[in-house]
Amino acid sequence: MNNNQVWYPYRQMQHDFAEYEVVHAEKEFIFLKDGNRLIDGVSSWWAAIHGYNHPELNKVINEQVSKFSHIMLGGFTHQPVKQLASKLVEITPEGLNHIFFSDSGSVGVEVALKMAVQFWANKGQSIKNKFISLKGAYHGDTFKTMEVGDDSDYNQSFANVLNKGFYVSPPYNSNDTNKSIHELECILSNNSEKIAAFICEPILQGAAGFKVYGAEFLKIAYKLCKQYNVLFIADEVATGFGRTGKLFACEHARITPDIMVLGKGLTGGYIGHAATIVTSEVFNAFLGDNYETAFMHGPTFMGNPLACAVALKSIEIFDRDDYLLKIKQIEKIFIANFENFKDFRIKEIRILGGFIALEFIDNKVLEGFQSYAIENGVWLRPFGNCLYIAPSYIIEENSLIKLVYVIKEWFNK
Ligand SMILES: *Cc1c(COP(=O)(O)O)cnc(C)c1O
Repeated sequence: MNNNQVWYPYRQMQHDFAEYEVVHAEKEFIFLKDGNRLIDGVSSWWAAIHGYNHPELNKVINEQVSKFSHIMLGGFTHQPVKQLASKLVEITPEGLNHIFFSDSGSVGVEVALKMAVQFWANKGQSIKNKFISLKGAYHGDTFKTMEVGDDSDYNQSFANVLNKGFYVSPPYNSNDTNKSIHELECILSNNSEKIAAFICEPILQGAAGFKVYGAEFLKIAYKLCKQYNVLFIADEVATGFGRTGKLFACEHARITPDIMVLGKGLTGGYIGHAATIVTSEVFNAFLGDNYETAFMHGPTFMGNPLACAVALKSIEIFDRDDYLLKIKQIEKIFIANFENFKDFRIKEIRILGGFIALEFIDNKVLEGFQSYAIENGVWLRPFGNCLYIAPSYIIEENSLIKLVYVIKEWFNK
């Protein structure tokens, strides 16, 4: 059969790759057409936090399907969207009170950026329309999110189209915190009249190569934004829902961003959906007597009832079954297994909550790793010069140990 009708993501389609066909998935296991069973180490891009085929999540989504699977949010409302909004207000940092739903993380960030620009326009300061972001940032694949991103692998073909803003180097080494703060303060003091917002992936940058920086930087950056009248946007699409060990990564710095974006794990990996959550100060700037100040944006599938119903249940299970404790246990296993793991090919190992990344000096060490992993019954995907595990939080200890051992064994071959 022709294998190029489906255009796969981030893929040079000229090469003929074997795509592994999935026929079933359950808990932390993925079953392939050829009969192989793989332990999932990636959670379908960090989203499937409860693993697959969760009976309670299946049940709520099935119940909702039999009522209505979708209804436009223009002119209508429904219980799942209202209840999810109320739940998100309750669990996100104090002060985040209003939620705009959309269908993917990229759109959720896009919405945040549009809101930031219009926030200032509504206050008569339309000149405040630029952004500050972090070097190495990834915020999505749409145009404006590429603009605040910083990854040439993703956007070099569009270099002439993108209207880039300002960038700060995050302090990957805590000794560099003051340097990063200084960099940010210079940009702010010279340009704050042009800047709408500062945007970051708090604590853990994903596509940058799983880089980690301290909460101290985040805390001071937040203060500087307030001081210079610039909004603070936290893109928690990847870090939200426990990945860094706290429910939201902003909690490490005890800050309430002006705008927070959630995605990926929001629906427990069931359906694409995102939430852009704002403070009342942001929300109120859009109130007025006419449409000029209103937020004129409305994804067709925003607030989809299936997505909302499953997200609500996902959050309920997360809390009820003490997932933060499960994440702590995952972290302990990572630490116990990798704290003293040394190999001359490893540059750095980073562990944070339910996440570990191994960065290598040269990505040659990863040649052939993917097929070796599959042969050993695990699903782990090299990314640049890194290897990472972002397991579902329900993963059994022996499955997690297996993931760890497959990586360790690779160095003994
Ligand atoms: C994945 C991701 C996005 C984009 O989300 P999509 O649902 O893929 O559009 C945005 N920001 C961060 C930090 C992400 O990890």
